[in-house]
Amino acid sequence: MLDDAGLQALREAARLSPDNLPLRRHLAQQLLGKGYLAEAEAEYRAALVLAPKDPDIIAGLAEAFVRQSAHGAALSALEPFLSEPGHPPVLGLLAARALLGEGDTARAAQRYQDAVTRDPSLADPDLAARLTLIPQAAPAPVVDDNVEHSGVRFSDVAGMDAVKESLRIKLLLPLQQPELFKAYGKRAGGGVLLYGPPGAGKTHLARAAAGELGASFVNVGLADILDMYVGSSERNLHATFDLARRNRPCVLFFDEVDALAARRSDMRQAHSRQLVNQFLAELDGVDQDANEGVLVLAATNAPWYIDVAFRRPGRFDQLVFVPPPDAAARSAILRILCRDKPLAEMDFDAVAKITEAFVGADLKGVVDRAVEAKLQQSIAAGRPIPLSTGDLLAAAKAVKPTAVREWLATARNYVLHANDSGAWDELMPWIKGKW
Ligand code: ADP
Repeated sequence: MLDDAGLQALREAARLSPDNLPLRRHLAQQLLGKGYLAEAEAEYRAALVLAPKDPDIIAGLAEAFVRQSAHGAALSALEPFLSEPGHPPVLGLLAARALLGEGDTARAAQRYQDAVTRDPSLADPDLAARLTLIPQAAPAPVVDDNVEHSGVRFSDVAGMDAVKESLRIKLLLPLQQPELFKAYGKRAGGGVLLYGPPGAGKTHLARAAAGELGASFVNVGLADILDMYVGSSERNLHATFDLARRNRPCVLFFDEVDALAARRSDMRQAHSRQLVNQFLAELDGVDQDANEGVLVLAATNAPWYIDVAFRRPGRFDQLVFVPPPDAAARSAILRILCRDKPLAEMDFDAVAKITEAFVGADLKGVVDRAVEAKLQQSIAAGRPIPLSTGDLLAAAKAVKPTAVREWLATARNYVLHANDSGAWDELMPWIKGKW
C-alpha cells in the first residue's frame, strides 16, 4: 500500500489527468484501502462517470457506502446490477452487508447464500454468523404431494366474468403469448391478491386459473407455514416457494394471507416481522428470473390488514375483489354444483331468488343437504329419485348463509374513509349498495 506521500502524488496525477480511468480507479482503491471513505466515494463516483457499467467500480463504491453505514445508497448503486442474472457474486455479497445494515436479515441471507454458492471464496464466517443462516441442508417440510394438477377450469367457476377477465390478462395472456408481451417490455409475473367475503370462491377461482394455464397448483394454508419455533416459519415459506419454482409453470396460492403478510406496524413480535420480510424477499426473488413461471395468487377476507409493501410492483400489484354472487351468478353456481346429479326439470332461478346473501360455499351446503335427503328417499324407494327444484328450495330454507352482510359491514368501516388511492374502487358499489 502507498504511503501518504505516494497517495498525495497519485491525487495530483489524477487531478492533472481527470479522464485517465485506470489512474482514477487505482486512486479510489488506495483511498478505500487506507480508510479515506468519503474521498474514496467521491473518487469512485468520478470513475463511474467514465465507466458507468464497470462492476469493479460499483463494488468499490458500494463498499465505501457500506463502510460509512450508507446502506440505502449502497443498495441503490447495486440494484441495477443485481437484477442481471450473471452479476459478479461480490456485488451480491456487498448487497448482503447493506441489507443486514438495514435490518433485512432474510433478504441479506438470501443474497449471501447466492453469492457464496457461486463463489465459495467469498465465504465470510462473521457475516454468516450475524445472518444466523438457514442451514443449506434443512429438510423441505412441504412435501411434493402438495402439488396438484387441477382439472378445474374457468368454465367451472360461475359468474365473476370481470374477475376472470382480469386474471386472464394478468396471468394467462403473458404465458400464452410471451412474444407480444415482450414486445411491450412486459414480463409475466407479479401476483394478484383476491379479496372478498369467505366462501365467495377465491380458492376455487385460483385452482381454475391453474387448470386454465395447464400449470401445477400449490395450495398453501397457514398450517403449512406457521411454526412455533423461531426461524422455522421462514424456512417453510422458502421451501414452499422453492417447491413452486421446481414445478413451474405453477400457480402458488396462499389462503388467509393476511396472517402471513400483516402490517408490520401492527406486530409486536420481531419474528413476525421477520416472516413478512422473508415473504417480501421471496416475492422479489434473488434475481429477476427467480420467479419466472411462478404466479402467486393470495386470498384474504381482510385485505386492509395487509402491509402496503406487498402492493408494490412485482409483488401483489393487483387487487381483485371477488364479490358475493348476484342472482344470476347464484343460479349459475347452482347449475354447476348440480350438473352431475340425476335431475328433474330445474328452476335454478327460483332457488337463486330466495338465496340472497348466500355465497358459493353456502350454495354448496344447500346442494349437499338436498342430495343427502334425496339419497335417503332413493334408498327407501329402492330406485334413484331425481333432485327437484322443491328439494333445493327446502334445503335453502334450512341453511343459514354465512356472514356476507357482516363482512360488508366490516369492510365498510375499513374502506369508506380510506380509499384515497382508489385501491378499493371495486368494492365501493357493494358497500354503498343495498347490502
Ligand atoms: P373462499 O376461498 O372464497 O373462501 P371457496 O373457493 O373455498 O371460497 O368456495 C367454497 C366452495 O364453493 C368451492 O369449493 C365451490 O364448490 C363453491 N363455489 C364458490 N364459488 C363458486 C363459483 N363462482 N362457481 C362454482 N362454485 C363455486
